[in-house]
Amino acid sequence: QEAIEQLHFLVIPFGSPGHYIPTIDLAKLLAQHGVRVTIVTTPVNAHKFGSILDEAIQSGLPISFLEFPFSYKEFGLPEGCESVDDLPDIGLGGALMEAFTSQQKQVEQYIENLNPRPSCMISDMFLLWPAEVAKKFHIPRIIFDGMNCFTQMCNHVLYLSKVYEGVSESDSFVLPGLPDRIELTRSQLSFAFNSGSMDAKDYYERLRISESEAFGVVINSFEELEQEYADAYQKLKKDKAWCVGPLSLCHKDASQKVQRGNKSSINENYCTKWLDSQENNSVIYACLGSITRIEPAQLIELGLGLESSKRPFIWVVRAGHKTEKIVKWIDEEGFEERIKGRGLVIRGWAPQVLILSHPAIGGFLTHCGWNSALEGISAGIPMVTWPQFQEQFYNEKLLVQILRIGISVGAQNVVHLGEEEKSGVVVTSAEFTKAIEMVLGDENESEDRRKRAKKLGKMANEAIEQGGSSYRNITRLIQVIRD
Ligand code: UDP
Repeated sequence: QEAIEQLHFLVIPFGSPGHYIPTIDLAKLLAQHGVRVTIVTTPVNAHKFGSILDEAIQSGLPISFLEFPFSYKEFGLPEGCESVDDLPDIGLGGALMEAFTSQQKQVEQYIENLNPRPSCMISDMFLLWPAEVAKKFHIPRIIFDGMNCFTQMCNHVLYLSKVYEGVSESDSFVLPGLPDRIELTRSQLSFAFNSGSMDAKDYYERLRISESEAFGVVINSFEELEQEYADAYQKLKKDKAWCVGPLSLCHKDASQKVQRGNKSSINENYCTKWLDSQENNSVIYACLGSITRIEPAQLIELGLGLESSKRPFIWVVRAGHKTEKIVKWIDEEGFEERIKGRGLVIRGWAPQVLILSHPAIGGFLTHCGWNSALEGISAGIPMVTWPQFQEQFYNEKLLVQILRIGISVGAQNVVHLGEEEKSGVVVTSAEFTKAIEMVLGDENESEDRRKRAKKLGKMANEAIEQGGSSYRNITRLIQVIRD
């Protein structure tokens, strides 16, 4: 224990809720295991994610923060944009990744004045510069990869086989050499294979090399969820891969769950009371993550689909992208009046983990961002899947085909970020309603799906408890660094 207390990890998150939040969870988990953790943050993000940072500080764990200035201008970013969800145009995502380089010098200065040096650096998968710093100071660098082993293996076989080359956008092909028959189209691949510009391709290639040169990789998943893929990935990484999730479960009680992420746009007590008034397993919770930009016409279909499902629901309408239009529709339609008592609209940020852990929730309509998917799994809830881009189509395969706890709304196409989107509707209200009914209904299949989801939820919780696989893995990681 004494030796563990001497370990000091420097943790460097990237600016996007889906990266930042689980990275802070990881820092907290390490601190719970006796490691001293210093988190490098930026001024706006320190404020933006204030509640999760405050919670980490108040936890009394050995966690501290370094807030370093951030350069906007030289990277072409508007003042104050330090997180993907705040970008006026998602096409600036690459510039944001580069802009995080502005922290490099300050981190170097910090380490130079530190004796002893940090024992380890854990940096987000999207950041390149930590590799140089780690090399300079001879510190082992671990990548925090916010995804799962299934995704890692999909990308690995795609990279090796180049099976997508020469295939048209919409023709599907099978990913070779995986334990399951996974079929995808080219447009459903992650940006590493599918990004429009050469600059982006080059950046992803550098990220791939950076990850392959790192000391190891931390994964937010648990082995039992995807055993064959976890084994294959372990082998690939020569045992330097650690599944330590689900990270959201490091928040044990309700008050901690409330404070996870941004400040909620709804009073949590009201939200809990509303859920208390609904029957167990009856509510569909629809939330599409923190960065998806969906056209109002398409969101209206979702609203109408939820309405005609005749099930109680919570619909989270994220702030930031053409919000005025969808809010105007909600108001003009008298939508909230029509669904009063049965439906709750949250405009902005929802306390997602708190909501998912309420017994009234019976289904989760998700964009399949990995954090959301894993939070659904951890809560033991079947899902309606509606992937938009990046690895979300892979995650849908995992949920629907492999774990068999999801029903797809049938979206085939990626949302092209950065383009002025077409106003076309990809998924109709009837398709949403149908998928919701399949998840929440009384059919035998729905019942079996619920049982499988519940079982996975139990396994997720066991994984992080003492003696569980993720508990063992975080201990193993700490041990490797100590040795
Ligand atoms: N989230 C939340 N409230 C919201 C929207 C998102 O708490 O209203 C959290 C969610 O719990 C998850 C993260 O933000 O932890 C989103 O990450 P994910 O990987 O699901 O999707 P992304 O936003 O990166 O597309």
